[in-house]
Amino acid sequence: MLFFCSFKDSQRVRVAVRLRPRNTDEILSDADFADYIELQPELKRLKLRKNNWSFESYRFDEVFTETASQKRVYEVVAKPVVESVLSGYNGTIMVYGQTGTGKTYTVGTLGKDDASERGIMVRTVEDIIGNTSASDSVEVSYLQLYMESIYDLLAPEKSSISIHEDPKSGEVSLPGAEVVKVQDLDSFVELLELGEANRHVANTKLNTESSRSHAILMVQIRRSFQGKKVEDATCQDKNIRNELYIDSDKPMIQKSKLLIVDLAGSERIDKSGSEGHLLEEAKFINLSLTSLGKCINALAEKSPHIPTRESKLTRLLRDSFGGSSRTSLIITIGPSAKYHAETSSTVMFGQRAM
Ligand code: ADP
Ligand code: MG
Repeated sequence: MLFFCSFKDSQRVRVAVRLRPRNTDEILSDADFADYIELQPELKRLKLRKNNWSFESYRFDEVFTETASQKRVYEVVAKPVVESVLSGYNGTIMVYGQTGTGKTYTVGTLGKDDASERGIMVRTVEDIIGNTSASDSVEVSYLQLYMESIYDLLAPEKSSISIHEDPKSGEVSLPGAEVVKVQDLDSFVELLELGEANRHVANTKLNTESSRSHAILMVQIRRSFQGKKVEDATCQDKNIRNELYIDSDKPMIQKSKLLIVDLAGSERIDKSGSEGHLLEEAKFINLSLTSLGKCINALAEKSPHIPTRESKLTRLLRDSFGGSSRTSLIITIGPSAKYHAETSSTVMFGQRAM
């Protein structure tokens, strides 16, 4: 195929950190706020208290304070990925952090009463609908990955979904998953709502909570260009762009895929205090987040081998990160000093990708 132009720096994972605003309880218990973090957004720097007299400093691609709007987070972190997906590349947007720090708020807010609250999933689909034409197709699937099984949030009656990897092209697909064509934003929001309701029912049955599984929105785009139109493809490299001037009466099909992943809570489960089911869950979350960490680390080091085999999560992401794909990671942290240890581990996870 012809869409081979590479983005500068495309292999690197872009990492942003977002601090959740204090909630009512936290405002009331003001004493809890011994300044344990300091954000310097203009320097793209986060400082984390090391001890009574010093801070450790970390750089990120972007630092969002508690006042950052949903719109701004979308524009800075997600939009570049969405734009490259519209030009034919695969992409991934992930949120990582401790439960309660704003992952679902960041990606999953529907904003039905207040559009300014909309999260990344809704804004992404809005952007994609607005930038594709009637002859293009936009399809979504919505899944939950729990204890190494994939459940279909749009068709909960289905048994677990298996991953298919095309041995030739390396393309990853979920042949059993429900695929819904999206035509307008309202029906997409309804679909997300349905998925959330199904997730709740399924989790009650499985005796678990949403924070213990990953939610994955898969958006697949198929665009057709007549030969002439191909010139418009947003390709930055002029030499390669020339190759795209093919004169053909046949439309050219451009396929791409975007995964938006609301990861399971990254908090360490106290192994001594939990047993049975909780401990099993913790092992699976640990497996997938650790394998994800290894992959983004390998990407950061420009390693030729990305170890995607170790978990379902990374197998699913295989063709959506690395190579010419674009990946953005948002790490979320909480404002209270009681989050210190978890924040530190979340920041380390983000740093491994830089
Ligand atoms: P997580 O998915 O990481 O467990 P949530 O997204 O559920 O965390 O956030 C926990 C709570 O904090 C929710 O009530 C959410 O609405 C609120 N919250 C999180 N981030 C923000 C933010 N940036 N602005 C306002 N409220 C937020
Ligand atoms: Mg959540």
